[in-house]
Amino acid sequence: MRLKNLTLAVVLWASLPEALRAALEPMPTRDLTAAIAADRFSKFVRARSERLDGYAEPKSAAAGSLPRILAAREHALDQLEAFYGAKLGRRLALVFFANEESKLKATGHRGWGWAVNDVIVEVNNDKIHLEPYHELSHMVSARLGSPPALFDEGAAVYVAKRFGGDPMGEFGHPGASLDAVVALNIDAGHYVPMREVFAFSEIGPPRTQGEFSYPEAASFVSFLVLRFGEAALRTAFGRLRSSDDSRQIAANALAFREIFGVDVEMAERSWRRQIGRPLEHR
Ligand SMILES: [Zn+2]
Repeated sequence: MRLKNLTLAVVLWASLPEALRAALEPMPTRDLTAAIAADRFSKFVRARSERLDGYAEPKSAAAGSLPRILAAREHALDQLEAFYGAKLGRRLALVFFANEESKLKATGHRGWGWAVNDVIVEVNNDKIHLEPYHELSHMVSARLGSPPALFDEGAAVYVAKRFGGDPMGEFGHPGASLDAVVALNIDAGHYVPMREVFAFSEIGPPRTQGEFSYPEAASFVSFLVLRFGEAALRTAFGRLRSSDDSRQIAANALAFREIFGVDVEMAERSWRRQIGRPLEHR
């Protein structure tokens, strides 16, 4: 009996898409015995759409509406592909868990969301619905290049706002515009100079003050798109490269000037005027 279950589980594990198995790779309970004991995947509800393979924990909120969730994500992908002028070009797996505990148990990852390789893992229930654009934005924009975090993260937050999401809700300002949140932060004495944000290869570690630099990056990207157009932003994605190396950061600054016709500090001044908090003011 035990052996039969074991064989079945091994077959089920092997039948998971490559990408999904890769995402589950780092989990601490990766060995099959534990996976079988937990009987995690054989009962997952599945659905497929044009570019997405969906998996939902049985009896979770997502399990009852998986095709509808996938349709909404496909729509988001259409918008993102149009914005970036690039095709996703591969299938993605979306895995929904009913709560943080079941997600942690299955993946070894804490928190509500996780994206690695071609897999997005999310907690989805009556209370928690992750903003759908951010991770998908990274996955589409990766086709253009790996620009510094200012562009990559800034655009991911910007597109969420532009296409009807509420990315500032996660920053404690539900419904607020990107510019308004930056203005509020500046008024409260929190501002990360743009030359510093420009040099970040990632936003998130404490030194990057993500609470303030995320909205700044998004508002700045919004300004670049309005002032210089989407094509210029795409060019920046292709030419600037994320790096902590000072020579690459200098090369990025030069490329920025070539693409936008102004240097970062000049653009920062124009942007600060536009959001009603000119640099000269303080
Ligand atoms: Zn991100």
